[in-house]
Amino acid sequence: MILTKDILQTTLRVSQALWGETTTSLDLCTDTLATVQLLGLDQSAFLKRSIRALVERSERESEKTNSDFLNQSLYRIHPLERALLVLLYEFQWTGDLLTETFEISADELDTLIWKSKLDLLTHRSGGKLFSIPTPRGITPQCPEWNGSRPWTARYLDQRLSRADQIFVHGHVDGCTNCRSLLEQSRTLLTEAKTTYEASMPEKPTDKNISEMMKILGQGETYALGKPLPAAEAFRQMVRQRKDVQLVIIGLIGWMILRLTQ
Ligand SMILES: [Zn+2]
Repeated sequence: MILTKDILQTTLRVSQALWGETTTSLDLCTDTLATVQLLGLDQSAFLKRSIRALVERSERESEKTNSDFLNQSLYRIHPLERALLVLLYEFQWTGDLLTETFEISADELDTLIWKSKLDLLTHRSGGKLFSIPTPRGITPQCPEWNGSRPWTARYLDQRLSRADQIFVHGHVDGCTNCRSLLEQSRTLLTEAKTTYEASMPEKPTDKNISEMMKILGQGETYALGKPLPAAEAFRQMVRQRKDVQLVIIGLIGWMILRLTQ
């Protein structure tokens, strides 16, 4: 499988949201990707499995998050929520891709996206208050309101079906209550995005990406996340040279003789 720049950029950015500091993120990301490489997946499956592996690793090793970053609200929410926000905000992943990656249903995804944004705002430094959209005076003609995955958020993110998107658009035009819900939601989502952007470290440089590419691109010389150039060079030399093979066989024979005497 060929590792693309796109895969490295996505996974490294998710790592930054998990561990904060760039060097740690780079090391842990490279190490995780090298392990997933052993599974021999195609590119699409590799990317999804790597993202999940990173989140799982972060859940196990949460203490590795650099303490400087813990003041940022992003680093105080669940690792899965952080990964989700990166993929949504920076890589515009579709709902289908996200449900496949995290192995959850579409409803679970909607709930998780909404919760991650609320959590982000809840953990803002200084405990700055925000208001949660509250329905008032809705009628049976209004779209059904579910506080844990409101239609307003899905509408604004364009994650409703095309038919629902058109229905809501028409309905909101004539319904003051739903229009108010939509505006409240828009304000909340804008604040969440601003908070996210203020929390994330700078994007990885091209140099960071090519460092990763160099290590991972070595394929079989890479074991347990650490490059072994000397050992690999020796192995290749032995494989190619009959005289060296004979010397090694002779040496082993001599050692066996010594040990058995
Ligand atoms: Zn309405």
